[in-house]
Formats: sequence, C-alpha cells, structure tokens
Amino acid sequence: MSNKILAVNAGSSSIKFKLYLMPEEELLISGEAENIGQSTSQIAYTINKKRQSESLPLTDHASAIENIIQILENSGIIKEKAEITGVGHRISHGGNYYTQAVQVDADVEAKIDELKVLSPLHNPNGLAGIKAFEKFLPQALEVVSFDTSFHQTLPEKAFVYALPYEYYEKYHIRKYGFHGQSHYYVSQEARRLFGLENTRKIISCHLGNGSSITAIRDGHSINTSMGFTPLAGVVMGTRSGDIDPEILPYLEETLNLDSHQIRDILNTQSGLYGISGISNDVRQIQTAATQGNQRAQLALTIFTHSIQQYIGAYATDLNGLDTLIFTAGIGEHSATVREMICRQLGYLGVQIDPDKNAHDELVISRPDSPVKVAVIPTNEELVIARDVMKFINN
Ligand code: ADP
Repeated sequence: MSNKILAVNAGSSSIKFKLYLMPEEELLISGEAENIGQSTSQIAYTINKKRQSESLPLTDHASAIENIIQILENSGIIKEKAEITGVGHRISHGGNYYTQAVQVDADVEAKIDELKVLSPLHNPNGLAGIKAFEKFLPQALEVVSFDTSFHQTLPEKAFVYALPYEYYEKYHIRKYGFHGQSHYYVSQEARRLFGLENTRKIISCHLGNGSSITAIRDGHSINTSMGFTPLAGVVMGTRSGDIDPEILPYLEETLNLDSHQIRDILNTQSGLYGISGISNDVRQIQTAATQGNQRAQLALTIFTHSIQQYIGAYATDLNGLDTLIFTAGIGEHSATVREMICRQLGYLGVQIDPDKNAHDELVISRPDSPVKVAVIPTNEELVIARDVMKFINN
C-alpha cells in the first residue's frame, strides 16, 4: 500500500517541505514557507515543475505548518489530512543519544529540547515543527532524523578534542558532525551505482552554503569536518571554518567584542563572504573572479584549498581513496570549484575529464583515473521519508 509521507526541515524563519508517495519515492510537491514572523512571509511550492507562491501572514512555525497543510489540500495533492500517514522531521542535533532515526515520543521531545544548548538555532525550531504537526495531523506517525546520527560511528580518536577530558565527559564537548543525511544518501548512491567493492573508501564533499567533508569506510562515517557545531571545518558561505582558537580572546580583548558579536562574525560575516567582500554565493564570486577581482579570486582559492586539505587528511584516515563525491549547490553545479579542487589531487589518483566536468556529468573522472569522481545530487528529504517508512512498515 502506498503512503503519503511529508519530510520537513524547519529553520529559524523558514520551513522546507517535500511530500512523497512511498514506497514509489515519487515527489508530489516541494516547497518552502519563508520569512516566518515577518511582513514578507510567503509559501512557495512546486508541483509538476510549476512553481507558485502565495503571500500569507505566517506569524510562527505553527501557523506556517497549518498553511502548508491547507495548500496541500487546496492544490488537490491530498483530499483530506488523514492521507498523510507519516511526517519526518530533520533535526540538527541528536547528541550522543541517537545513532539513527526515531519515532517521536515524550522522551524524544525532551531530549531534543535538552540538546538545544548544543544547537540553539535549530533544535527549538525543529521541536516547534514536531508539536505543530501533532496538533494539525494527529493521525500521522512522526519520526525524527538527526543530522548527527550518521557520524556516531566516528572512532574516539576522531571525535574527542584535545581539551581536558572531563569537558567531554561532563559537558559532552566533542565532534558531532552534521549533514549526515546528505553524506549518507550520496555514499549509498555511489555504492549502489558503482558497486560495494569500488566504494570502500569514499570521501564525500557536501558543498552548499554550509559545507562539510566526510570520510566513509564501507558505508560508515569515520571522520567529518564539522565539529561540536557546524562552524568547524572547511571555509563556507559566511562561516569561517577552522581558525586558530586564540583569535577569539584576541578579538574580545583588542576590539572589545563580546561572545555574541564574535559568534556573529564567525557565523555570518566570514567565509567566502568575508574574504571576497562581495557575496556568499559562489556564482557571484565566480563572475567577479572572471572579471579580475582579486579578492574574489582569493576567496575561491582559500575555499578550494581548505577542501583539498581535508581530502588529503581523509585519504590518510581511509588509507587510500576509491571514490570522491561532490554534492549540494556548489558541488553539483560549479565545474570551476570542482576543477580547482581536483587539480591538486593528482597524487591521490584523481584525474578528471574537463568536458565531463563542464557538463556536471555523473562521473567526471577519466576512464583510466584510479579514483572515480562523481557528481551526485543530494536528497536529504528522501532519506527522511525512507526513515519514516521503516517505522510505518514495522
Ligand atoms: P544550503 O546549504 O543553503 O542548502 P545549497 O546546497 O542549495 O545551500 O547551495 C547553495 C549554494 O550553491 C549557493 O549559495 C551558491 O553558492 C551555490 N550554487 C548554486 N548553483 C550554482 C551554480 N550554478 N554555480 C556555482 N554555484 C552554485
């Protein structure tokens, strides 16, 4: 029997959603409630590749969800609410509690709430989404899928920071890693497409506004570039990625900044945007770089260099490399960035075909390249919908 499953990703002022017919994995509608709590709030959605949007007063997450369900009914995608048999929520932080998706109950809700200290921006919004669906779709089975779960297989040597050990024991300060659904999805796709024997040592590069690199051995994450929070790792759109931690007290003391201001600088004023002074969007930076803008060129160079360094490090963790995957907005669409990264990886056996790369083909490496290089579109929502189906089938 088919089920209509809604996958939901609630951010601070937006809620992304996709409704799937499962197990067929047919996407019925995708959309996003935007600018929640602001006068410009709206819901944009796509059915059969046709995009529409409606300006609606969305005062909070609950009213956004009520309106999303209304749109599903008005558009004829569902005749009645009861047709939606399951809702899957993307939750940023599952701490050390969750190694896989779980069905929502009071204890799960309490843990998501408890973990808001580790994810102050995302977990509370996710929880608000869960509670709203309990109210508006009480018959639907609710499941949560955590960004962190896939990385719970990291060995201690990769997740314990070299701080006093009690900070890990008492305060749970460790590397958690994020983008788990995406790294899981693209690595599973690679294993399905290229065979298990050829994909024992994968490095996946999720390059979007937020970016992370993951080393995957035999399907399990063994290291990942984001850390205690998504701020760590490679250079990102507006996040700094790794920097010398001593810079923080230096900023505090010399510029008289407090922790809120420093956090804002590192999360929203840095990265590609901070270096280029132009934008966090790689498209705009590439255009400026082509026109000779040196800061834009430098931003791309520093960005791709930081990724090369992680790939080198993770090839060491994996003791080799079979498959290099690029995914997410930049990874899927920027031939320039992929070329800039790969040009330094010949020593690992990475040889790309410029023509295949220029056309975003699935396999962009040359036939004789020892390492297969693949461009695999990510689908985090499908992972979430599949997670829901596991519970429905049980
Ligand atoms: P998010 O992390 O917000 O989900 P995405 O994975 O959608 O982001 O990636 C968004 C980024 O992808 C944009 O900011 C832009 O830099 C980049 N991007 C999208 N399309 C292209 C393109 N055609 N060429 C280069 N970069 C692109």
